[in-house]
Amino acid sequence: MEGLEAAIRRLPSHHEAIPALRAKHAAVQAGFGGEQELDKVFESYAFSMKHGIFHDLSLMSSTHFQIDSLFITPSYAVLFEVKNIAGELTVRKNPPQLIRTLETGQVSGFKSPIAQLENNCSLFQDWLHSRNLSLPVYGAVVMAYASQRIEVFDSKIPVLFPSTVPLYIRKLPTTSPLLDDETFVTLLSQLNSGHRQFIPAPICETYSIRRSDIRTGVICPGCNVLGMSWHKRKWECLKCGFRCSKAHIQAIRDWFLLFGGKMTNRDCREFLHLERQQNANRLLRDMNLHTEGANRNRTYKMWLSASKQKRT
Ligand SMILES: [Zn+2]
Repeated sequence: MEGLEAAIRRLPSHHEAIPALRAKHAAVQAGFGGEQELDKVFESYAFSMKHGIFHDLSLMSSTHFQIDSLFITPSYAVLFEVKNIAGELTVRKNPPQLIRTLETGQVSGFKSPIAQLENNCSLFQDWLHSRNLSLPVYGAVVMAYASQRIEVFDSKIPVLFPSTVPLYIRKLPTTSPLLDDETFVTLLSQLNSGHRQFIPAPICETYSIRRSDIRTGVICPGCNVLGMSWHKRKWECLKCGFRCSKAHIQAIRDWFLLFGGKMTNRDCREFLHLERQQNANRLLRDMNLHTEGANRNRTYKMWLSASKQKRT
C-alpha cells in the first residue's frame, strides 16, 4: 500500500500505470477494513474446541501464498478470504473474476475470491503434506459488510458474512481429532515460525514502470510540491518556504519501495537532487540502513517490513 502510494505521488498524473495502481490501492484498502471485521467476530466468540487463529499468514509451499485468516483445529483447517468491496458484486466462474457495479454505473473487475481461495486451499494442503500432516481443508469467502449484495455462481465454497462465521464453523463435520495434542502444538508453532512477513516486489517491477518515469526529488511536507533543495543542512521548499531537516527520509523510502535493491551514493544524489557526495553520505548514514562495502563502493539497503502484525 505504501509502495502504491509512492508510485502514485511520483508518476505524472496521466501516466499509463496510474489506473492500475489506483485500482490495486482500492482493493488493498478494502481488504484491510474487511479483515478487521472478521477479527472482531473471532475475538468475541468463544470456541469450545482446541483451535488456533492466524491472520495475514504468509507461507511458503511450491510458491509463496497469503491467507487472510486461518482457523485450525486438530480435526480440520478453515481458510477465510475476506473481501470488503462496496457495490453490487458478481463472481464469475469463467474467466474467474469478481465484477463490481457501483450505483454510479461504474463497473470494475477484481480477482475472483473463489479462485484465490481454491488455490490457497490446495497450497495449504501441500504445506501440510510436506510436514507429513493431513487434515481436511475448508475454505470460505467472507464479505465484510452485511450490506453488500453478492451473486455467486454455484460453487462448493460458501460466501459468508462475519457474523455467520461461528455458525459455519460449528456446522463443519467433526471427526475425532486427527492430530494428537503434541502434534497440534507443534503445528501451531510451525505456523508461527513459517509465517514470513510478505515483502512485495518493488512497485516498478510489478507494474512495469520505467525508472525514468518516476519523478525524482524531495517532496515538501508542507505543500506536496516536488523538488526541495538542500541548503544549510535543511530542506527548503522554494514554493512555500517550508524548511525541515527530515524530508529526505520519505524520499529514500520511496526509492526502496519503487526500485528495491541497493542504493549507491550516486543513486541517492540523483534521487534527492544533491550535489555533494558528503551530504548524501551523511543523510544515508543517519538513516540506519543496512550497509555493504566501504567508502566508494558502499551500498545501502532498507528492510521494508509490513506494518500489520499477525496475531494468534
Ligand atoms: Zn512547500
